[in-house]
Amino acid sequence: MENLARFKKILRTSVPLAMHTWLQLGGQVEYFAEPRSEDELIDLLQAAQKEGIELRFLGTGTNVLVSDSGVPGMVVRLSAPEFCKIDTDPASATVSVGAGAKLGRVITSAVYGGLAGLEGLIGIPGTVGGAVHNNISTSDGDIAQWIESVRVVRPGGEVAEFAGEHLDFAETDDPFENGIITACRFRLLPEEAEELSRRLQKIWILRKKGQPIGYQGAGWLFKDPSGASASELIDDAGLKGTRIGGAVICDRNPNFVLVEPECSSDDVHRLIRLIQTQVRERSGIELETDLTLW
Ligand SMILES: Cc1cc2nc3c(=O)[nH]c(=O)nc-3n(C[C@H](O)[C@H](O)[C@H](O)COP(=O)(O)OP(=O)(O)OC[C@H]3O[C@@H](n4cnc5c(N)ncnc54)[C@H](O)[C@@H]3O)c2cc1C
Repeated sequence: MENLARFKKILRTSVPLAMHTWLQLGGQVEYFAEPRSEDELIDLLQAAQKEGIELRFLGTGTNVLVSDSGVPGMVVRLSAPEFCKIDTDPASATVSVGAGAKLGRVITSAVYGGLAGLEGLIGIPGTVGGAVHNNISTSDGDIAQWIESVRVVRPGGEVAEFAGEHLDFAETDDPFENGIITACRFRLLPEEAEELSRRLQKIWILRKKGQPIGYQGAGWLFKDPSGASASELIDDAGLKGTRIGGAVICDRNPNFVLVEPECSSDDVHRLIRLIQTQVRERSGIELETDLTLW
């Protein structure tokens, strides 16, 4: 792997992914890289491509389930300060952010700057990169409606800009064509900051009520199928509290799996399949997991 030799400062080998994911499960990855700038990222992706190394991208790992045997190739994470900047501009009603920035920080910074729109997503953990890649949503709407543009580095190292209005998450799981999102600009609506802060607090309190208590170690399982709630479908199938090994369906909101200390990744996989089968048999609806399975 001579092309990778020059990345010693940002590349580690045989890294356990459990410590980098929310569910803290699964095995190792061959290479784990944290580039410090976009130029370094481009250089790294080009070198990885020359070596034929498979690439995966990671935010805070809230929605990634790593297999017990680990994964081949390289995981790239944009945790360096260069990728975590947040620039709120009330004059143009935009917020420009690095993909590694935490979504919660972006939302509060927009709200304090008197910019409305993203507050409906408060309480969802993760980075902007993960949120945009997954087009996260709540009953208040999705994140895509606020995107003005997304900056992406393709696996071959080319930089591309995607305009928000051309992103079609309904058509494809990955409108970014396997590229890594490095930055995003949101166009929001000016609103009085104090009133907006009060609304944010109300939404935050309600959101917490619907989430497991002390939610580290709890995984969000399924997308809501159109016109239905995954959580209600699992509840209707009588599955609250169901356990496989150390993976348990949460009582408070059955669209979450709670991971106990002895849980394996395979336990979660088997629980997902059990839920899908039972919900299908009861309602005829096919639940699609929102977790990225590595
Ligand atoms: C308690 C809890 C509550 C949640 N509530 C909701 C909810 O209400 N609605 C909802 O929609 N989701 C919800 N989720 C899911 C989750 O928070 C989101 O999907 C989250 O935005 C993922 O962000 P992340 O940084 O952790 O991404 P990761 O989990 O690290 O990655 C998720 C996916 O995005 C890709 N990815 C990450 N970063 C990049 C990047 N820079 N470029 C390209 N691809 C990238 C990964 O490869 C992976 O496929 C919840 C999760 C939890 C644990």
